[in-house]
Amino acid sequence: MKIVRSSKEMYGLSGRWKKTGQIISLVPTMGCLHEGHLSLIHNARNASDRVIVSLFVNPMQFSQNEDFDSYPNQFKRDSELIENSGADALFCPPVEEMYSETFQTRITVSKLSRGMCGKDRPGHFDGVATVVTKLFNVTDPDVAVFGQKDFQQLVIIRQLAEDLSYNIKIIGAPIVREKDGLAMSSRNIYLDPEGRKCALCLYEAIQASKNMLRTLGEVAVETLLENTKKIVGRAGAKLEYAVIVNEFTLVPDDYINNHSILALAVKVGDSVRLIDNSKLIA
Ligand code: AMP
Repeated sequence: MKIVRSSKEMYGLSGRWKKTGQIISLVPTMGCLHEGHLSLIHNARNASDRVIVSLFVNPMQFSQNEDFDSYPNQFKRDSELIENSGADALFCPPVEEMYSETFQTRITVSKLSRGMCGKDRPGHFDGVATVVTKLFNVTDPDVAVFGQKDFQQLVIIRQLAEDLSYNIKIIGAPIVREKDGLAMSSRNIYLDPEGRKCALCLYEAIQASKNMLRTLGEVAVETLLENTKKIVGRAGAKLEYAVIVNEFTLVPDDYINNHSILALAVKVGDSVRLIDNSKLIA
């Protein structure tokens, strides 16, 4: 596996692969890998001839009071996992390579970035959209794989790819969960044993909503959201938001239908922010 730190080298390598007709895929990550990330790489392998994994903790998507400085860094372990997963290149540029001193461009996917996580994390999705645009330009992929775990991010990237005329197929890979249902996340390592138990409320709320729909047939959106609030409150977590939205537009649904997604974000303890989501009708 080639480890590439400069954009110029990455662009050159991708260009050489393209010249020989190979299909290239990109899997963007911020490192601290778990099975969820590895499943994306697996998806990428199946969809292409060459897989580029990027590992870049993007300062632009963290606000002042967030965990950029303490974001877990496990480069040696991550690069070994990436190599063993069969990736062809690891693109891991230093911050200065991505953001020069004079950097001043910002990509905004306006409507889709406003609600949900965008409300609690102003500027976050501009940071994501900007870095993903740069990664698309530097790696020039045919396919890019993102996780459904960050559902709003996935919808935003699909819109970005369409709006900016990228000829890139965007694949949304399913959420990989722990045995007890907790969605895998790089931030789970911050959870102490009590927090780990509390974090199960996200999955519990999702399952409860699905079960209600299965047994009752029709349930009002408000009833499901009220029940979600209760479950999160009872577990001792702080609900940041719970919404039921259309999976393509992220517009709140008036009634549950085949495209409804329940998405929620909670804070466990003072600082661990976790998100999860699921389609309500399979
Ligand atoms: P991150 O390193 O947290 O920025 O995540 C990199 C990519 O991995 C994103 O596309 C995430 O949606 C995806 N991802 C994170 N956790 C999971 C998971 N549990 N299952 C599937 N994909 C995931």
